[in-house]
Amino acid sequence: MDNLKRLKKQSIRATDIASQYWCERQMELNYLYGKETTAEQKKGSDVHKEMEEKTNVPVVLMTKSYADFMYKILYTSVLALETLLKNKRSREIQVYGMIDGFPVVGKMDMLELRDGEIFIWEDKTKANDNLPTEPQLLTHKIQVMLYRKLLDDIRSGKYPREQFRKIYGTATLIVTPEFARQLDALGIEKKMQSVDALVDTYFDGMTSLAAISETLHIRYINQFTGKEIKVYRFQYDRQSIESSLEFVLKYWKGERESLPVPETEKWKCNYCVFFGNRCKVWWAQKQLNL
Ligand code: SF4
Repeated sequence: MDNLKRLKKQSIRATDIASQYWCERQMELNYLYGKETTAEQKKGSDVHKEMEEKTNVPVVLMTKSYADFMYKILYTSVLALETLLKNKRSREIQVYGMIDGFPVVGKMDMLELRDGEIFIWEDKTKANDNLPTEPQLLTHKIQVMLYRKLLDDIRSGKYPREQFRKIYGTATLIVTPEFARQLDALGIEKKMQSVDALVDTYFDGMTSLAAISETLHIRYINQFTGKEIKVYRFQYDRQSIESSLEFVLKYWKGERESLPVPETEKWKCNYCVFFGNRCKVWWAQKQLNL
């Protein structure tokens, strides 16, 4: 059995792949035993929400079913694409794709339209003004390079709408009457109230985007002061992302077990909620060093 089925997931998230570069075992344990959101992560997601509200049209839709949920995600992304064309920047755009037979999904923090090109930005919050460590930067670079690959695959038609429809079964999805009433209130005409109709609008918007720049951005922000700590600009490296994906997919295909951190990175265990309980790979060694 592959690990997507074992973890009862429909698709791999871009953040899962990035997390595999921090600690793959921790990423797996988070799915098996539930992820605890720390106060720091909660503050980080509040900062993202505030930034989204400043650039995007707010979407207030209460969902009751999977169809409602899919509609809301696509609708929010369609509005964000319109905002991008109008205001030259937009936040929180969902991107989908397929890698070696596995559905992959992610949400890009920000797209910017400048000099006829689309630039991808990823925002990361930190609890202090310290620069990110190399391992942190690596996981974030993998995430942004993956977004570029997924976005380019949609734009170039390598990942077509028919494949998306098949994977997510959108042809048979019908939104609930309560959700349809909310769409009526927003003035959305009946023929645009089906998930399948929105798939076309979403793919039309994505495939007509300008060329995607090979220059990628990661911006670190202090979550308490809102101050920009540093912006890293780097070039997309096709070969590097392809070999990274080949490595991570071996886990998802079930060809190998999840890997704990190597000995040189066992310091990461000190920040892990599973250390000494669900994961004891480096626990005995820590006890000896006390
Ligand atoms: S304790 Fe260490 S090796 Fe185990 S899951 Fe956590 S970070 Fe990974």
